[in-house]
Amino acid sequence: MSYKSEHERSIQDPDSFWGEQAKRIHWEKPFKQVLDYSNPPFAKWFEGGLTNICFNAVDRHLADRADQIALVAVSTETNQEKTFTFKELYEEVNRMAAIYQANGVKKGDRVLIYMPMVAQACFAMLACVRIGAIHSVVFGGFASHSLASRIDDAQPKMIVTTEAGARGGKAVPYKPLLDEAINLATCKPEKVLIVNRGLIEFTTVAGRDLDYAAERQKHLHDLVPIEWVDATHTSYILYTSGTTGKPKGVQRDTGGYAVALASSMDHIFCAKPGETFFCTSDIGWVVGHGYIIYGPLIHGMATIMYEGTPLRPDAGIWWELVEKYKVSVMFSAPTAARVLKKQDPAFLTKYDLSSLRALFLAGEPLDEPTATWIHGAINKPIVDNYWQTETGWPTLAIQRGVEVMPHKFGSPGLPSFGFNMKLLDDANAEELGPNKKGVIVIEGPLPPGCMQTVWGDDKRFISTYWETIPGKTVYSTFDWGIKDDDGYFFILGRTDDVINVAGHRLGTREIEESISGHANVSEVAVVGIEDKLKGQAAIAFVIPKDASNTATLEAECMKTVDSTLGAIARPGRVYIVTALPKTRSGKIVRRALQAVAEGRDPGDISTMEDQTVLAQIRGVIEQRPPT
Ligand code: ATP
Ligand code: MG
Repeated sequence: MSYKSEHERSIQDPDSFWGEQAKRIHWEKPFKQVLDYSNPPFAKWFEGGLTNICFNAVDRHLADRADQIALVAVSTETNQEKTFTFKELYEEVNRMAAIYQANGVKKGDRVLIYMPMVAQACFAMLACVRIGAIHSVVFGGFASHSLASRIDDAQPKMIVTTEAGARGGKAVPYKPLLDEAINLATCKPEKVLIVNRGLIEFTTVAGRDLDYAAERQKHLHDLVPIEWVDATHTSYILYTSGTTGKPKGVQRDTGGYAVALASSMDHIFCAKPGETFFCTSDIGWVVGHGYIIYGPLIHGMATIMYEGTPLRPDAGIWWELVEKYKVSVMFSAPTAARVLKKQDPAFLTKYDLSSLRALFLAGEPLDEPTATWIHGAINKPIVDNYWQTETGWPTLAIQRGVEVMPHKFGSPGLPSFGFNMKLLDDANAEELGPNKKGVIVIEGPLPPGCMQTVWGDDKRFISTYWETIPGKTVYSTFDWGIKDDDGYFFILGRTDDVINVAGHRLGTREIEESISGHANVSEVAVVGIEDKLKGQAAIAFVIPKDASNTATLEAECMKTVDSTLGAIARPGRVYIVTALPKTRSGKIVRRALQAVAEGRDPGDISTMEDQTVLAQIRGVIEQRPPT
């Protein structure tokens, strides 16, 4: 099979292509048609078909895999490690579903899940889709204010939480933050279910708060029948990372999502039933939804949930787990690879990694030094893949399961099946040929698994994503890129971050890539700031590897840029810093850097991991302002 012809078929004849892919999952009742695109840009996949994600992820495997491990929950924070077979997972999910039902949660009701990486979070998600309830997982690192806005948007009937998470050996309170968020929120949940881990003391609200252990005991032997739902029934809501501004509530369906995940396990991840998948993300992110919980389980694989940092007890912990559970596919983010890069590489070679076939990295640009380093350290293919919360599964990747194709450094690869991706000139909406920079867009219909709409706001879905390019109704990714002669895409940064220097447009990524080639650069971020003469000028922020040796680093970085991109791209300043502002998912928040550099208010920074970083950066800039 060739990738090219299959991809063409997936675009030209989606009914045939996705009709075949749909056979990967169980349908209780067959769908009437594969695609209904009579009301663009709203695509309805597999309408009329009845299915259930929980059935496909759990119940379906009881026949052949009841005693196979389905879930491994590892916490290096609490030093606990527990495995659940498919049968045990089935029982736990039934108990959780019974607790929901006993407390009035019905099909279509929202359940907000504010939890760390514990097994009960997995039960909580699966139990929702089992009964047709809609989950909204909120990343456990968010504080009250961010949580409150998500409570008001999703209006959950029930919230599931723990009293605390843990990070770096310290308990991180959850329940007190949740109480504060509920106080702030206009919409109050009827019930709060608390998984008490015994990490901190906390107070409860009579009549509202429920203890999970006690509730579970009441429903120990309950079985909750599957609620067969239409393929278009909403399975979950998930908010975007908030890197560029206010998070958007991405709404996802049931049937299309299950089919897309199942096909990606085969086409992209080359994963096989019975093996173990290890995704180091968090259930609070889209990668965690698809590749910690649903994808591997639908595919009959064991999945690892990991609570902890990649460095405790030491930097070998992830690879120790690969050896122990014979992980075949691993999925992480460049930011995690960069954390490991600062450690002794011996930690990565200490364990038997023979089961591992490839390491997938997504979420932000993968720079060459990091890719080369991790490849050298583990000696496995490193597979960059590009996607968004909105798309639900990799949009650009090498389809390794379809055809052996070369990887090109710096490129996440080619469009996945069903993604009709183009580069457009943002000034006149014209389609661009190879080697021309433009906005990356997707021509409708979006394939199965992509967002249905913005939760509760169809108008916002249209105006945010489909009306940004004048004269053309296409989905904008808000990413800026280029395509080579072979059709490989390269991401050059966010459209917000494109720099215009004297009429030349440059993606921040291009300049960052160039600077990261310097031997003493550990991390770098580039933003454009106002410049009276040139319109805009680039400035760079660099974290050095060796902080004691930076006297000539600025000049050297400038020289590197001159020689790779030309003097036009040369940053006006290279600031040496100790940290960069990042979202809680590890992405650099360039809009905040730019605001600080231009002396403006950075706006909403509630999604940022460490809010003191910006103050430090402000200090560095004040000492030597950009001209
Ligand atoms: P918000 O939309 O709220 O600003 P966000 O865009 O960071 O937040 P996500 O959906 O988590 O939220 O991230 C998707 C974005 O991450 C992509 O649009 C792209 O900018 C970036 N990205 C993801 N994977 C890659 C990759 N492999 N290479 C380069 N960039 C990537
Ligand atoms: Mg985004």
